Amino acid sequence: MALPLSIGILGGGESGIGAALLAKHVGIPCFLSEGKQLGDAHRAELQAAGIDFEEGSHDLERLCAFEVVVKSPGISPALPVVQALKAAGVQIWSDIEWFYRHKPQGARVAAITGSNGKTTTTAWLGHILQKSGANVRVGGNIGTGAGRLLLGDPADIYVLEVSSYQLEDCPTFKPHVAVLTNITPDHLDRYGTLANYTDAKFQITAHQTEEDAFLYFAEDPITVAELGRVKAQKYPIYSTEPAEKPSVGAYPENNHFTLIPQPDAAMTIEELALQGKHNTYNALAAGLSARLLQVRSEMVRESLAHFEGLEHRMESVGHVHGIHFVNDSKATNVNSTYYALESMKTPVVWILGGVDKGNDYSELFALVEKKVKAVIALGADVAKIREAFQGRVDIYEEVSSMDAAVRTSYLHATKGETVLLSPCCASFDLFQNYQDRGLQFKAAVRKL
Ligand code: ADP
Repeated sequence: MALPLSIGILGGGESGIGAALLAKHVGIPCFLSEGKQLGDAHRAELQAAGIDFEEGSHDLERLCAFEVVVKSPGISPALPVVQALKAAGVQIWSDIEWFYRHKPQGARVAAITGSNGKTTTTAWLGHILQKSGANVRVGGNIGTGAGRLLLGDPADIYVLEVSSYQLEDCPTFKPHVAVLTNITPDHLDRYGTLANYTDAKFQITAHQTEEDAFLYFAEDPITVAELGRVKAQKYPIYSTEPAEKPSVGAYPENNHFTLIPQPDAAMTIEELALQGKHNTYNALAAGLSARLLQVRSEMVRESLAHFEGLEHRMESVGHVHGIHFVNDSKATNVNSTYYALESMKTPVVWILGGVDKGNDYSELFALVEKKVKAVIALGADVAKIREAFQGRVDIYEEVSSMDAAVRTSYLHATKGETVLLSPCCASFDLFQNYQDRGLQFKAAVRKL
């Protein structure tokens, strides 16, 4: 399909603003509609660019007249405004599709999706490519809206973090390298069933062909069961040594790891910049993607050994009287907390709680019994935590603020132990978002 003569944009967050600025940049008139209030910085950007917009409500008649509307991922397809657009026959694209229609000819795209590990893998791949001297730009769900990535000089490679919400509306998006980190129950409030969620995640590879690469976690049964859909070259990744070695892919072997097709200089798991089984996986996914994008193996090795982790993801906050404090505020579901607990090498005082998105805590019981000496629970859905963990650990306490959680954890931890904030839950009850939760944790630790 040729590009539309004009577009509507639904939603004025980072992705919508990026889409609007891209439309302006390529000379396609657009109209942005935000149902709530725009952020001041975003409003100012639209005004400075002379882009037409409304806020506080949607002019449905005007939106329905467009052939294409670019919809922000945060807007549920169940909302009346989206239903009305669909009924009117308007095509709905995500900002990723809009980006893809404009990306420079010949530029390659690597896209990363999954329930957990997207941001870490995206940032790590971006880091490897930047260090190798490639002309690369990184964005999407990770911060910079995809549309913005096309405003400056063209790049050779674009690395995009994409959410399942963005993939829902990608009718032609075809990344050269696609990574699906894993599929675990999450966002079921929006998707209803795991099958619907899986369908959305697999959209990342729906338009790929044999000349593209699809990297996936070979230990994830939900992904493996759906591989029949994939037309791209498949690259399995293992975080533990597989019984049968694959002919392509990545896996650890005798504590070293192998990236195939091009075998690498030996590197041990301990040398990886981020530790823990989940990060071994993220490292192998980022490293193999970089190899497939023609980065030399020594460069990959160097950048896998030197990478600063991201804030709020197993972030070391420091030691107080020999007690290690770790901020994993980004762990908003059971799977991410599972890996956090699994990577712990000392007894743990564990702070958790918030808004439960349908957690099954029994998946954590074995790890908790082995590693956790105290549970400090807070937040809206504390009753379910009490039911799951009281009596299962030596010490169980409930508190009503992050300050109290940190002070209580400090009382129960002793030298050589770890206090881990890995909430397993969303943050919107007591905090603005997971960043706010992590910052409050760090501030409370500093006050000890
Ligand atoms: P996402 O962008 O998908 O939310 P992040 O990289 O921000 O992923 O990590 C989110 C949380 O999940 C953090 O608590 C992190 O420690 C954990 N995590 C990171 N990578 C993985 C993985 N491959 N599998 C499971 N959990 C992970």
